[in-house]
This record gives sequence, structure tokens and C-alpha cells, in this order.
Amino acid sequence: MMNQNTIEIAKNLVSRESITPDDAGCQEYIQSLLKDSGFIFEQMDFHDTKNLWAIKKGKDLSNNHDPNKHPVFLFAGHTDVVPAGNLDKWHTPPFSPTIKDGLLYGRGAADMKGSLAAMISSTNRFINEYPDHAGDIAFLITSDEEGPFINGTVKVVEELIKRNQPIDYALVGEPSSSNELGDVIKIGRRGSLTGWLTIHGTQGHVAYPHLADNAIHTAAYFLEEITKIEWDQGNQNFPPTSLQITSIKAGEAGNVIPGEIDIEFNFRFSTEFTANDLQNKMQLFVDKHCDNSDLDWKLNGEPFITQSPELIDATSDAIKRVCGIETSKQTSGGTSDGRFIAKTGAQIVELGPINSSIHQVNEFVSTEDLNKLSDIYFQILKTLLVDRQ
Ligand SMILES: [Zn+2]
Repeated sequence: MMNQNTIEIAKNLVSRESITPDDAGCQEYIQSLLKDSGFIFEQMDFHDTKNLWAIKKGKDLSNNHDPNKHPVFLFAGHTDVVPAGNLDKWHTPPFSPTIKDGLLYGRGAADMKGSLAAMISSTNRFINEYPDHAGDIAFLITSDEEGPFINGTVKVVEELIKRNQPIDYALVGEPSSSNELGDVIKIGRRGSLTGWLTIHGTQGHVAYPHLADNAIHTAAYFLEEITKIEWDQGNQNFPPTSLQITSIKAGEAGNVIPGEIDIEFNFRFSTEFTANDLQNKMQLFVDKHCDNSDLDWKLNGEPFITQSPELIDATSDAIKRVCGIETSKQTSGGTSDGRFIAKTGAQIVELGPINSSIHQVNEFVSTEDLNKLSDIYFQILKTLLVDRQ
């Protein structure tokens, strides 16, 4: 536990080739780093996915959960990375972490092995300096965030809820920063809902339109209406709900009236809607325009927002203290595992390094930023588990 260097940990994680859903020994390594701090570990592996649940109890006397006196603070993250991409375009091998001009290069350096390293170093330092801290500190680390997210955080959270394991604060290490460390934190995320609509008409010869029913023409009226709708105006936390048509496939030959059209679309939606409301509303338009159709849905995530101030304030204050800037609280960007953790009722904040190079070749993170990130995480723990008690 002594003198753990955030950068050293980040390098050791990056050197493990953990292309999703492979963990490549990262979680075992994380266990070895946390074990002297009193954590109890449990692997909650499902199929090809490794999930590490770790918890370190505070010194509180009673076993009753009290979110004020005995909060449970969770660090959440993932050990998997996206594939390296075109190896020829990497200046250094993607799984040979290399520091140059203060930047650590390697796949996963920013998304999100750097954050994991900062979580571990800050936690060990915190427990060392404040062995009598209140509350519990937990880790939920998955190897399936970049993949189909079926056997990762979502399954662990289901199990935790079954066990009545409370989580009060969850800090997700996704790379939230935009231009400088800490300039953006995420306090929620939009929902994501994908739909596939097949409209059935009647195929025919273009010369005999009265014998056919052109599915493209039916689709045209439908598409015109749904692309003009203002679904909502958003609210103080979310931009307006957006519908994007992402794919249209129809047509067989130049002299054939198509009898079918496949339309794919995606909603990014605010808390003004539930997925169910959106599906019902869309069904009304489908019924209005299409006599014969099939509509399938996949819910990628409901929207969530952190309303209570404690974690957000602790994070903003820590950023101000370490980086000297005011952070901007946003809900933009794609989905994250925060959407699954939200089901526990936890306050959720996402804070990690600058995201400009994630999922790209020559992914990098500033070593100075990683050290600062560790300091920020440390301050957040101190605020919530020591100062507020
Ligand atoms: Zn990530």
C-alpha cells in the first residue's frame, strides 16, 4: 500500500491487453493493490465477463445503514478497452505504455485505466490517512463496458439490489473532461432507445401501380411527420429529446415497386419521457400511417439525473481546490454504466480525464492530470466520509 504511484498503476493496467470483454488479469492486479487496505473481494463473473466487487467497511458501530452517518461510497469503472485499431498508426505499441512529454500513451490510458489507477491510489492514501473514516468504500469494476454491456455492471447491480446492498454515492471514472481536467462532470445521462420499423406494402411492376402498394411512399408520409415533431423542449438538466433516422433500406430493381421498407431510428431522450411513453407515442404515428407493419425496440438505457447535491458539491469543491476551476455539470454524451447504477438510487457523478483521444489511435492521458485526478478523488472521499461526519 505504501507509496503507490498512480502513474505506475496506470502503466501496469495499460500493459494488460484487456480488449473487451477480456480482463487480462487487471482485476486480479487491482485486488493485489487494495488488499492491504482491508477490502473484501468478490468476483461476480457472468459468462465471458469479469466483475470485481470490493468493499471496505468503515468503523461504524451499528450495522444499520444510515446514508448520513454511514454512507456507502462506490468507485465504478471498467478494465476492458476497445480494440487498438490500425496498428500502423500507433507511434508506440498500444499495450506498451509509454510516457513522452508528460503524456502516457496506450490503449485505455484515458478510457479508463488512468481513472482506475487514480481511484486505487486515492483510496489507499485515504484509508492510510483516515483509518477511522465513516461509511464504506466499494469498487465495482467490470470487463464489459465497451462491449454489449449484458454481463457487466447491469448484472452486478441486480445482484446488489437483491442483497439490499445500499449505494449512496457512485463516482464513475469515465473520461468526462473536455479541454482541461475537471472542466466537465456528468451528473446524468440521456436515455437511448433504438427502434426498427418494417412497413409492408404490396410489391408490383412499376407499370402497374394500381396493383401494388409502394412501401417507400407510405414511409415518406410517416417520416415527414415524425421528423418534424418537437418531442419535448428538454428541461433544466437535459437538452430536448432527439429522434434520428439512422438507416433506411428498400428497393429491389428499377422496375419493381418495393413491397417493404426497413427503417431504423434512435431516440436520445430526456427525463421528460420514459422509454415506454416514447414507444407508445411512436406507435400512434405508425398506426396512423401504416396499415401493416412491425415495430421492434431495444432500450439501451433510461435517462437518469442526480438531484441531491452532496456528491455533486463534494466533486465541484474538490475540482476547484485541486485545479482552480469551476466545473460544468452536464448530461451530454453517450450512455455509461451510470445508467445501471442509478437503479440503486445512488447519487452519481462521472469524473475522469480529458476525452479527446478516447477510442482513437495514440490514446493518451496527461500524467500530471492523473496525479491531480487522484487528489480530486481523495478530496471527495475526505469530504463525504470524514468532514461531513
Ligand atoms: Zn469508458
